[in-house]
Amino acid sequence: MPAAPWSRRRLCRALLARGAVLVAAPSVTAGCGRERAPRGNGRPWPEPRMGPACPPELAWAFDRERFMPMPAPGPGDWLDEHSEDGQDVEQFLADEPNRPGPPRDTIVLQPLLPSPTPMLPDADEQLDYLARFFGVQVRAAAPLQLSDDVLGARTRGGHTQWHASQILDAIEAQLPEDAYCSIAVTTVDLYPEPSWNFVFGLARLQRRVGVFSLARHDAAFFGRDASDVALVRRRGLGVLAHEVAHMFGMQHCVYHRCLLNGSNTQAEADRSPLHLCAVCLRKLHLLVGFDPRARYEALHGFYRAHGLALEAGWIELQLEAAARA
Ligand SMILES: [Zn+2]
Ligand SMILES: [Zn+2]
Repeated sequence: MPAAPWSRRRLCRALLARGAVLVAAPSVTAGCGRERAPRGNGRPWPEPRMGPACPPELAWAFDRERFMPMPAPGPGDWLDEHSEDGQDVEQFLADEPNRPGPPRDTIVLQPLLPSPTPMLPDADEQLDYLARFFGVQVRAAAPLQLSDDVLGARTRGGHTQWHASQILDAIEAQLPEDAYCSIAVTTVDLYPEPSWNFVFGLARLQRRVGVFSLARHDAAFFGRDASDVALVRRRGLGVLAHEVAHMFGMQHCVYHRCLLNGSNTQAEADRSPLHLCAVCLRKLHLLVGFDPRARYEALHGFYRAHGLALEAGWIELQLEAAARA
């Protein structure tokens, strides 16, 4: 049942987390500040309303038939443990997402110090990917060292972890004037609150801030043999774009296999694609107004240059659909 408008607005001010596992209080929902029984069914949501009609020549880009439906969740999956309302395009617009435009027209990447390991992908790759993915200006801020109080460091599983929510408070308090949003990146592991054992990333939908960690993407973090570089890069790009998409007002996707799917574990995150489904792509399109074909061509160039063959192949299918349209 649709939520009342006031509760939607409250939801949009709340946090959305990706990839976290509770170690206690399993009835607490993930990030959205609500407590509700899991739906226990992968597809209880009504068909998504796609919002205002798009120009006929762009219909190919938002054709849901070409996107894999979201399957029913398995035990322990995000949708098995967390309640999600499902945000279709009309609800997205009703939630009044921030629109990029002067003076807040730039995605700012905010590296955090100290950085115990090199970033993979590095800052230049992250910026390049953000520009191609979201179609807005990007820049990096000078690396930032926060105080120990803000970082809230604790040790878990032999690793230092920083308090993601406190980092968001600090980033929000010094948001640059040109920032449509500011996304902090670290190679230190993160936790969102004491009862959780980690979080890949955390973002606030309307407060323009997010943070994500690259720590867990390489099996070396867990004392195993190093992971394939392309896999580590894919994971890093995925959590980066996922968190930034939240700052464009997009909630977790329940309609298709999509970058915006929630995930409890690395295995579940790996099942999510790097692309936006038709519903989520339409949301971004309504905010930014890019040419879908040009966007896919730009992303194709990135994936080809960085050895992400599966993603490049998927884009080629979209470009074929564009050519047939
Ligand atoms: Zn998320
Ligand atoms: Zn989606």
